[in-house]
Amino acid sequence: MKHDAILIRYAELAIKGRNRKKFERRLEKNIQQLLKRRFPAARTSRTFGRLFAETNGEDSKEVLEALRHVFGISSVSPVVRTVNREADIKEGAAAVISDALAQGKRSFKVSCRRIDKTFPTGSQDMNQLIGAHLLGQFPELTVDVHHPDVELTVEIRQEGTAITGEKLKGAGGLPTGTGGRAMLLLSGGIDSPVAGFEAMKRGVTLEAVHFHSPPYTSVQAKQKVEDLAAVLSAFGGAVKLHVVPFTEAQLAVHQQVPDNVEITVMRRFMLRIAEQLAEKDGLKALISGESLGQVASQTLESMYAINQVTTMPVLRPLITQDKLDVIEKSQRIGTYDISIRPFEDCCTIFLPSDPKTKPNAEKVAYYESFLAIDDIVNDAVKRTEVRIIDGRTQQDEELEDLL
Ligand code: ATP
Ligand code: MG
Repeated sequence: MKHDAILIRYAELAIKGRNRKKFERRLEKNIQQLLKRRFPAARTSRTFGRLFAETNGEDSKEVLEALRHVFGISSVSPVVRTVNREADIKEGAAAVISDALAQGKRSFKVSCRRIDKTFPTGSQDMNQLIGAHLLGQFPELTVDVHHPDVELTVEIRQEGTAITGEKLKGAGGLPTGTGGRAMLLLSGGIDSPVAGFEAMKRGVTLEAVHFHSPPYTSVQAKQKVEDLAAVLSAFGGAVKLHVVPFTEAQLAVHQQVPDNVEITVMRRFMLRIAEQLAEKDGLKALISGESLGQVASQTLESMYAINQVTTMPVLRPLITQDKLDVIEKSQRIGTYDISIRPFEDCCTIFLPSDPKTKPNAEKVAYYESFLAIDDIVNDAVKRTEVRIIDGRTQQDEELEDLL
């Protein structure tokens, strides 16, 4: 017997009180979009009071893997469903166990929950009956109540019985689209893609902005950022990427302000431009990959000086994280290999060897006052190019939603 459905659990949503319905609806919609795109025959259903993906002949292992990457899902289980009759339940249990044996598993225990009290046999008795049946049918099988290879869960509900022997961890977090929309400052480095991932995991829909400085930065550097956005989009949906021509701003800054505050002033320009682009699209926050103390430009003093130019919240998901943890995360989500390609982004050009670790906000503002700030910002915004990056499929129908 084949597993005919996948049980989808979403523990975190259970504690969301009044928001719960909204979150559940969004999660189901996100799952439906995924199924439609990759497994056209599959459908979601709500039976047994739970959310299922009906595989309808699609490869159940592949559907399972795809679902594990959907934010908001805490775990998934392939299930066999039967009517509430002892013989059918035993047969279903045997099908699950024979699958498990084929995977090399040997020991098991049965955990039956009789939710439908009209079912004549109690949970304990069902444990015994099913256990004995399986031991009779499969000689290589052994019972282990403490550390079984397979915990066979049998839920007897009004509508029918669901049997599963496997529970796989999902991505967790909150469904994409429940956390509003924000603008990720996406460099070609290791940190910012991970910061974007963390925000997406909390349900945030991302747009991204990248500052490049041709001819000082290469086409490959820009390609790198598009590839990073594509990886992110596989988790949280298509990403609208704004590519800002930053050469003029950088040159102006380089000519006008002392070397050691250059990076601070440059960052302030990035924030101003990012904020304008975000506001134009109705986004409510900026996201950066900064981590406290990691480099000279990421001290509290520099964040203080940089932050002066924006009233929009700047989310810094990595602020307290160790670099090694961030690297590990980037390897897991698949951005690391792209991030370490050797092409420089705009921040590494013109950089002084001794940037101030504690820039003085007033002095920075003073030096900056010699620049035509508004003109520089407006000009960069005007010449910004926009692309939709979607690593999920070449022709995605839902793109208009983002524009
Ligand atoms: P990352 O690994 O994300 O590049 P980093 O450790 O190199 O970070 P910085 O160069 O100080 O740190 O940049 C801090 C943050 O500023 C980045 O995480 C990113 O959010 C933003 N940023 C830096 N350069 C750019 C750029 N060229 N385009 C867009 N955002 C940028
Ligand atoms: Mg960087």
